[in-house]
Amino acid sequence: MAEAVILGTSSAFPTETRNHPAVYINAGGKHLLFDCGEGTQRQIRIADLKPSIDYIFITHWHGDHSLGVGGILQSLNMMRRSEPVNIIGPSGTTASIKHILNTYKFYSRLPIKTRSLDLKKEMLIADLGQYAIYGINVKHSVKCIGYRLQEKDNINIKTELLNKYKIKPSPLLKSLKEGKDVRYMGKILKAKKFTYLKKGTVLVYLTDLAYEKSLAKFARNADILIIESTFSSTLEEKARDVNHLTVLDALTIAKQADAKKVYLVHTSQRYEDSKTIENEIMKLKKKLKINAEVSIPNDLCRIEF
Ligand SMILES: [Zn+2]
Repeated sequence: MAEAVILGTSSAFPTETRNHPAVYINAGGKHLLFDCGEGTQRQIRIADLKPSIDYIFITHWHGDHSLGVGGILQSLNMMRRSEPVNIIGPSGTTASIKHILNTYKFYSRLPIKTRSLDLKKEMLIADLGQYAIYGINVKHSVKCIGYRLQEKDNINIKTELLNKYKIKPSPLLKSLKEGKDVRYMGKILKAKKFTYLKKGTVLVYLTDLAYEKSLAKFARNADILIIESTFSSTLEEKARDVNHLTVLDALTIAKQADAKKVYLVHTSQRYEDSKTIENEIMKLKKKLKINAEVSIPNDLCRIEF
């Protein structure tokens, strides 16, 4: 089981109730951030999350998505962290981190590993054991990446059959999980009969991007889709001008990807009262025949997946 906490749901301007973008994820014992806007550290404190971050995945280097990076690095340095912090983002990320470290005058002993990516197609970018992170370039006014966190599929034992046949816990069960038939008390236990495939869960994070048909493929079968919808569908032209999504764009991607739970974030401050967008969602869900749960989360919304 993994947990995501949406730390910030605003777009360019933080508001009284919405912080700059960041999503904190605890997956397989690793602590990740997708984006790190201003105030991210404080949100981590308020949400009572572990401040020791292993990976920061930056979508792009617009300030609202990255102004918090310097602060986190300063704190991790003061915490005398000895494990490396991995900072991954689009082309230019390594240079941006160098600038940050040159700009802020803290003596850093913190080991930092950076990677700058240019992903013309979906690629594996980090293998965390039980989970893997994939990325792809998306279209924005600057270089930008979409992220997909995928739990690996697992072969599990059918415990109800173990009970039925009175099979006690045994190291042999490990072989069953590896697909091998085993001999137990004189009987052959078939791996096929005693195991099943548990598909891993998927979380997709797409923000600051223009609509492209290919996005649905990247977000395919997402259990959790955290996606921007900066503008109401009535502002389609404006959205196209600034390479952002409307609510209609975001829900079209969600429908085509067959996403199960959809969280619309990066809401423009002009919708501080989210009623306009909520009404639009209701209408569009009917029109597009969307069964997924769709919501406009508040900051610090917690999601288990
Ligand atoms: Zn942006």
